[in-house]
Amino acid sequence: MDEELYNLDLDKKVEKSKEVLKEAKDRYDNITVGFTGGKDSLTTLELVKDVIDDFKVVFVDTGQHFDEVYSFIDEVMEDIDAERIDAINTNVLENVRKGGVVKKDDLNDLNQKELEKIDWEEFTLADDREPCCHLLKTVAFQQTLNDLDVDGHVNGIRWDEQDSRRNENYFSERETHTRVHPILHWSEDDVWSYIQRNGIQYNPMYDRGYRSLGCKPCTNKVSTDAESERTGRAQDKEKVMERLRALGYMAIF
Ligand code: SF4
Repeated sequence: MDEELYNLDLDKKVEKSKEVLKEAKDRYDNITVGFTGGKDSLTTLELVKDVIDDFKVVFVDTGQHFDEVYSFIDEVMEDIDAERIDAINTNVLENVRKGGVVKKDDLNDLNQKELEKIDWEEFTLADDREPCCHLLKTVAFQQTLNDLDVDGHVNGIRWDEQDSRRNENYFSERETHTRVHPILHWSEDDVWSYIQRNGIQYNPMYDRGYRSLGCKPCTNKVSTDAESERTGRAQDKEKVMERLRALGYMAIF
């Protein structure tokens, strides 16, 4: 984390973010932007719209989001001149919808291989976070990026959100693409100031006590006094998160 950048005023932070995005525009031919319906990716999307003309928006749909998240994403996308791609692990979701335990043998070859990698034979939605997040988020996301042949993926992670993000860079190389993090140096307050200053419509769930929006079974309301805005995200149990990150878990999920 660069303290000097973190302590800039908001106008200078916006300038820096746009510089990062201009560089991304020059470097990559096929750019996607991650959108979760949350405030950070919303802010990122607004900045991207100002700088990059040609991009696609990727929403990782686990099938477990709050209704308000789905409707908010629909609303935002109506005003954006970009194709929306929903990254969905359909095969896993079909099995989740049957209820009860999802068994490896009932899944397709790709999902079976992914479960073997992490040594799980079966799992229950949300209770078993490692296989659940890996298949519904990371595998769905990576598959989509591969299908789209993406070389630059922009997302809205920030240095101060959690310790694991403090060493991130604006450009972070992954196996198949580069992740671009234009608002790395922003604080939670900066994001809200930017949203308010620009009159950007945000998800009304924030006004009902949520500080971070994830899947419904794994997200609780969090007091504004809580040390971390992600305290309400049950999946942030550090050991599970370490293993998920090693498998390519995406920071903004
Ligand atoms: S956040 Fe919870 S419900 Fe969503 S994919 Fe992860 S474990 Fe499953």
